[in-house]
Amino acid sequence: MIKISHLVKNYGNFTAVDDISFEVAKGEVLGFLGPNGAGKSTTMNMLTGYLSSTSGSIKIGGVDILDDPLNAKRLIGYLPEQPPLYPDMTVEEYLSFAYDLKNCKLNKEKHLREICEVVKITDVYKRMLKNLSKGYKQRVGIAQALVGNPPVIIFDEPTIGLDPKQIIEIRNLIRTLGKEHTVILSTHILQEVQAVCDRIVIINKGKIVANELTENISRAVENTRRFNVKISGPQRDVLAMLRNLPGICYAEVLAARDGDAYTYMIESEVGIDVRKKLFWALAERKWPLIGMEALGMSIEDIFIAVVDKTAPEGVQRPKKKSRYEGVRAAEEKEVAAGIVEKTVKDQENASYDEESSDSAYYEDHSIKEDTFASEDKTEEKK
Ligand code: ADP
Ligand code: MG
Repeated sequence: MIKISHLVKNYGNFTAVDDISFEVAKGEVLGFLGPNGAGKSTTMNMLTGYLSSTSGSIKIGGVDILDDPLNAKRLIGYLPEQPPLYPDMTVEEYLSFAYDLKNCKLNKEKHLREICEVVKITDVYKRMLKNLSKGYKQRVGIAQALVGNPPVIIFDEPTIGLDPKQIIEIRNLIRTLGKEHTVILSTHILQEVQAVCDRIVIINKGKIVANELTENISRAVENTRRFNVKISGPQRDVLAMLRNLPGICYAEVLAARDGDAYTYMIESEVGIDVRKKLFWALAERKWPLIGMEALGMSIEDIFIAVVDKTAPEGVQRPKKKSRYEGVRAAEEKEVAAGIVEKTVKDQENASYDEESSDSAYYEDHSIKEDTFASEDKTEEKK
């Protein structure tokens, strides 16, 4: 649905986007992730035709944004980082303005009403934009992007500045939209992409350093082998028991102490999940298990490792606290190295080669028009 090939953007001597290539499949929700200043907004502004590229090509549904900007833009709804809201307009006036601007052909009143229901702004429809809370303003921005029911939706940091409850609401909304649309969502919040995206592309200093399915990343970071366990009982005996428990290949006391409870780091043999056995062994000896924490890698670890791997020499991540974390860091680096290596190869091999499935886009656009129930269906219900 979206194909970016060897895209470059220079601001004077500075290269903000440096030869990036990736594709977004129809119906996919892609998380475009990267630290501040990585080039996310620049890329999105080129994708949506707000900014011209220095070189490279962008195709939306087979339409080149440079050759045929009008038709390409018609396929896109865009929520920029700073949505252009006019404070003295009411929500109704603003959406009506967006409708006219996009030269939309759907039944106006009905279409706008449906959008307001989807993004939950019906109750503020007659209010002025300047009087709305940040969360509502953001939703109005999203509503504006949905006018005309474009098949591709691009959101630049949609949850920035929102409170935790609003963030969850916007995420749910994006998840809903993702069922019917192709979505690109930029963010520097990692949980966000893990929660809603099918695929994650990480950009750093203008280059793509990772491009992987979310489930593959989650699998890579999964770990049921190393745990910190907090056990109340005589330290020496507990440690001896842990070391002798079949399936555990390593156990060690960590410094942390809480009353008569100590924290131990244990590692099980490959392919063995010792948690249940450990629980029963402790119960038998009447040593209460106070806590258990898996020492898996988080997606943050992977992100930092991937970004670090591509950082210039001399930029070091902060030193890890304990020596066990050294083991983890090595593992993260290995996973990160795998992701980066694969991505670099993909970037090099990315071609300009055209069309293929994309050009068929116009033919099946009709399916997408159902996103907001058509006039006729509503009539039938009455
Ligand atoms: P992100 O959205 O990932 O935070 P941006 O795409 O906004 O990053 O910016 C990428 C880099 O390009 C940054 O270093 C930024 O300072 C620079 N930059 C962005 N816009 C301009 C501009 N109009 N002129 C010069 N430099 C710019
Ligand atoms: Mg930005």
